[in-house]
Amino acid sequence: MLLRHTRKEIGERKAVSINPAKTCQPIGAMYAALGIHGCLPHSHGSQGCCAYHRSALTRHYKEPISAATSSFTEGASVFGGQANLLQGINNIFSVYEPDVIAVHTTCLSETIGDDLPQIRKKAQTEGKIPEGKYVIGASTPSYVGSHVTGFSNMVKSMIEFSEKTGRKNGKINIIPGWVEPCDMEEIKRMAKLTGVETIMFPDTSGVLNAPMTGEYKMFPDGGTTIAELKSTGDSTGTLALGEWCSADAARVLDKKCKVPCRVLDMPFGLKATDRFVDAMRTIAGVSVSDELAVERGQLVDMITDMHQYFYKKKVAIAGDPDQVIAMVEFLVSIDMCPVHVVTGTPGKKFEKRIKEITKDKGFEVNVKARGDLFLLHQWIQNEPVDLLICNTYGKYIARDEDIPFLRWGFPILDRQGHQYFPTVGYKGGLRLLEKILGLLLDRKDRDDPEESFELVL
Ligand code: SF4
Repeated sequence: MLLRHTRKEIGERKAVSINPAKTCQPIGAMYAALGIHGCLPHSHGSQGCCAYHRSALTRHYKEPISAATSSFTEGASVFGGQANLLQGINNIFSVYEPDVIAVHTTCLSETIGDDLPQIRKKAQTEGKIPEGKYVIGASTPSYVGSHVTGFSNMVKSMIEFSEKTGRKNGKINIIPGWVEPCDMEEIKRMAKLTGVETIMFPDTSGVLNAPMTGEYKMFPDGGTTIAELKSTGDSTGTLALGEWCSADAARVLDKKCKVPCRVLDMPFGLKATDRFVDAMRTIAGVSVSDELAVERGQLVDMITDMHQYFYKKKVAIAGDPDQVIAMVEFLVSIDMCPVHVVTGTPGKKFEKRIKEITKDKGFEVNVKARGDLFLLHQWIQNEPVDLLICNTYGKYIARDEDIPFLRWGFPILDRQGHQYFPTVGYKGGLRLLEKILGLLLDRKDRDDPEESFELVL
């Protein structure tokens, strides 16, 4: 019966979330850690947590996710997990030989109050961290924030590597936020076309979209190297893409090494990509490359050609704040109407941004941070939409309400391609439009009476 029990009447709910639009902090921390070359994520908690985090990532990225766990038992749950983590660090460096272990906490280790910096110090004093190897840590209690918070916390902990030597490296740091590995590749390609040398961190390209070679590599070739992470302190500046995912790390780096930062929206859609390209162009002191100008023109061309099909179409959208903000701006810029907007991640700033973007556009927006898919479904029942944009969990609503459905965001559990086809940048904008148009026109073809069933659209 799927979600057919969802009621139209919206009641006051404070203490309960139904069909959350988020998942737990350590999943984000684990994804970020996989963007360091030679890094083994380590979950400081029970085996069950680690198994869930790994499977969530494996199901989305369709790649085996290696991660270790402190394997808490009843004893560790009561007396603390220090002994487990110390032994874990020892075992991991002896058996798997990673360059870095990136430890994140879980609800359990946070609740009992395990002190990661103190445990790491002890591991160091006891000689459990070999010369030239590293342990970093992030506090990621899941009862606050979301997977986005966990991602941000782990990226922030990477700043620990940064060093300021006083000799500038002439590069720009790009913190891409939680985007797909192919999106990271695309951002690097755009930077290259602009003539900007970059250090991207984290960088999961070549890690979670690596080719099948027949040879298993526990640590794939991709990922930001330790040398690059150290060098971030000598960069000319940092572009942090996304307030929720990337801004904290950029600000910490600025404070530590005096590397000035700019926080931009993630480059989804025309305007946000324009701002990103302009920021890179300004830093490099160059004009926009001909290749990027052509790509932009192609996106504008498709918007112009197909505008009649986008115009005034209502959209419901749920996802992570940085992605959704940019996507809502994109939809508004092509005259679509994102009337229901939800993120599961807390942050009143989100609601403010969405209201600013949709102000005076001729429609009222329902927007909620820390919202859930149950509320989104209720809104849709009260005001139906032409398109739903959401991760895989939206498919229940789409089926119940018979709405064209664009899978976008994390997690996508029932489709392929998101790791390989970017949706950032101008080319990514074309991809998004192609998908949206396909859905809208398929619906039109399905519903049109025979006399208006057209061959050419
Ligand atoms: S107990 Fe906490 S950290 Fe573990 S899976 Fe559940 S929400 Fe995540």
